[in-house]
Amino acid sequence: MGDLFRDGGPHQIRRTGDDQHELKVELPTDDDGRLGRECPSDECEPKYFRVKLGTGVIGDADDRLCCPYCGRESDANDLATPEQIEFAKRIAIDEAWGGVDRMVIDALELGPSGRRSIDCGLFSLEMSYETEPRPAPQHPEEETLRRDVVCPRCGLDHTVFGLANWCPDCRHDVLLVHVEQEFAAIRRIVSSIGDDRDRRLKAKILENALEDVVSAFEGSLKYLVRRVLRDRGRTPEEVERTFAKDVRNSFQNAATGDRVFKSVLGVPLFCRSRLAEQERLQELFEKRHPITHNLGVVDRKYVTKTGRAGREGRDLIVSMAEIDEAISIAASVIASAHKTLFDGRRAQDEEPVAEGGES
Ligand SMILES: [Zn+2]
Ligand SMILES: [Zn+2]
Repeated sequence: MGDLFRDGGPHQIRRTGDDQHELKVELPTDDDGRLGRECPSDECEPKYFRVKLGTGVIGDADDRLCCPYCGRESDANDLATPEQIEFAKRIAIDEAWGGVDRMVIDALELGPSGRRSIDCGLFSLEMSYETEPRPAPQHPEEETLRRDVVCPRCGLDHTVFGLANWCPDCRHDVLLVHVEQEFAAIRRIVSSIGDDRDRRLKAKILENALEDVVSAFEGSLKYLVRRVLRDRGRTPEEVERTFAKDVRNSFQNAATGDRVFKSVLGVPLFCRSRLAEQERLQELFEKRHPITHNLGVVDRKYVTKTGRAGREGRDLIVSMAEIDEAISIAASVIASAHKTLFDGRRAQDEEPVAEGGES
């Protein structure tokens, strides 16, 4: 009787033991040549990311990769998504079915046609064995990710959900690259406003952009705080408690955000020399309240908070220059907080990038 698996073929099958075979399965990539990967850590969220093959310093399939979210290092083989594992299993099962077909045909001596006639004198017997065509295994379903980033250190082109800390290849800290890209996207939307747009539409885009700046500022600081608390050994439950009790939505406001950042991490968000920037950012962020709650018309609450008497009932104006200014201050505050919290430790954590091929 023949073997269930035949050596060679497109999956480079080879026998590795009495009942063991090894086969190689090439995992399909998306249209951009990106391969889905999933961190095997139970504590990690959101686990899934994609890397573009042929970029960065990734060489062969044995390379280890680092999870961009939690920093855990794993062998490439341990980063397969459940869908990729199913896809590989399906290929192995199809190969085995091919082996079963061959074994039946051999045992019944049916020959390549799959048919055999046996003449018994009084009657003759026709035997045939038909193999059902099996549908090709479906490509693993890929998640939709929207944030592509190229590591400035090793050039790895990869994609993540939301923000991420590390380059999966060289372990460079890429958090600020993600933050910059968030702000750059807002700048691009604002700069796409043409002269021909109607005034309300233009105002709406700028109002939305201001909301987006606040959201990017808040989201980035929350990400930073979460990472520092985890680095300091807090359990996920403790981190969540700090967020529910202290952090909440305080980073939507520059002054409160500064206070909370200091009380939670022990370092100020705005150092003494940046107090003017804190006041300005506070003023710009304050504008979003009438936008969110009062159709962009100045209300009593806004007048009381900002001391702008005589403006009540009028349209609140958000200018392109103000969006630009809010982004510049927000991005620079986040960058300096990041520097204060992580500089010095970064260099030793990173993997050296080999220069000029062999090292
Ligand atoms: Zn992870
Ligand atoms: Zn890198």
